[in-house]
Amino acid sequence: QVDFRVHAQQHYFEYQPGRLTGLNRDQKTITLAPIKNSAGETVVAERHLSYDTLVLAVGSTTNDFGTKGAAEFCQFLDSQEQARRFHRNLLNRYLQEEFADSSERNLRVAIIGAGATGVELAAELRYASQQLEYYGLHHIGPDNISISLIEAGERILPALKERLSSAACRELKKLNIEVLTSKPVTEITGQSLHFADGSELEAEIKVWAAGIKAPTFLSELDGLETNRINQLKVDATLRTTRDDSIYAFGDCAECWLEGNERPVPPRAQAAHQQASTLYKTLIAKLEGKAAHPFVYKDHGSLVSLSDYTAVGSLMGNLSKGSMMVEGKLARLFYVSLYRMHQYALHGFFKTGLIWLNDRLMKAIHSRMKLH
Ligand SMILES: Cc1cc2nc3c(=O)[nH]c(=O)nc-3n(C[C@H](O)[C@H](O)[C@H](O)COP(=O)(O)OP(=O)(O)OC[C@H]3O[C@@H](n4cnc5c(N)ncnc54)[C@H](O)[C@@H]3O)c2cc1C
Repeated sequence: QVDFRVHAQQHYFEYQPGRLTGLNRDQKTITLAPIKNSAGETVVAERHLSYDTLVLAVGSTTNDFGTKGAAEFCQFLDSQEQARRFHRNLLNRYLQEEFADSSERNLRVAIIGAGATGVELAAELRYASQQLEYYGLHHIGPDNISISLIEAGERILPALKERLSSAACRELKKLNIEVLTSKPVTEITGQSLHFADGSELEAEIKVWAAGIKAPTFLSELDGLETNRINQLKVDATLRTTRDDSIYAFGDCAECWLEGNERPVPPRAQAAHQQASTLYKTLIAKLEGKAAHPFVYKDHGSLVSLSDYTAVGSLMGNLSKGSMMVEGKLARLFYVSLYRMHQYALHGFFKTGLIWLNDRLMKAIHSRMKLH
């Protein structure tokens, strides 16, 4: 998590808190919603900011595709608050089962969507279930917690290479995680999931991790062109199709590059590369030079399976084509990637300090947060 106010002070930009709610392209202004305190009182009234060039990078949220009952009965992991709620809910369920009178203890977790988020979450939950006995929970353990990973497509990790998907599937099965593929969910109720083939799966905890969509307000943003999942359509220079002064990148933008069968994927590495290109374009624009076209380089993908292992494929500099990595090496790359993100944000020295701090905290705190 980045404290933008501090980051801005240290990196020569100005940070304005506020939620974008409107745009006036003629007047070149944006509208920010009022800022309220926890009692609902207005601290700062709605305000307008003017711009010469506007860059939109508002990300995405989970897409439940309007599935009946999903919004009501599933948990989502888009924000820190949602993640905290999921954590609290899970701990309460563990406690409930631990002290239940019944001798039949069983907690069923269903994760809908076997992309990287779903796969990683399934492995993390299995790891957590194996740690419980070290923290005084003796009646509930891995044998009482069933985890099912559900995917509408034919295989898990559909956006990644098939080899990777099979390797991850093999590891998940070793962890006693049930993997259900070709199982589109049609409805969710308080107790169960209903599938298109008429079958049903009971689960107390249901997490929706399938697909993304850009925020709805983008489709009503003063006539900017959007696709069916509200992403702003941009050209190869990341400029929106209907306004030369407005750019968009990251998850909230749909960017097609020549010769590609799919748009640039909604991933951190794509957003990062687009930011670097846009930075050059904005400088070029000020100097009256031509925009830099965006070129996407897929450096590969890594999927962590908690402390057990990781699987991934690396592309580009280290290998010609793609190179499959698994186990300790893949985990090392995974951890390095995280540090690379920190390096991009904070620089070498601070990332070193953060790493040192993390090592110290690891020695003091448990790996699992049980409160
Ligand atoms: C659980 C999870 C795990 C993931 N794991 C990976 C992974 O391992 N590898 C990977 O490559 N990608 C991963 N992703 C995807 C990755 O996080 C995104 O592709 C990436 O963050 C997109 O960057 P972005 O800048 O477009 O959007 P974001 O990083 O989402 O940033 C958008 C920002 O805009 C703010 N915002 C939204 N609406 C408004 C508004 N109206 N006004 C003002 N601000 C607003 C948001 O609060 C947010 O801070 C994961 C995503 C999730 C949810």
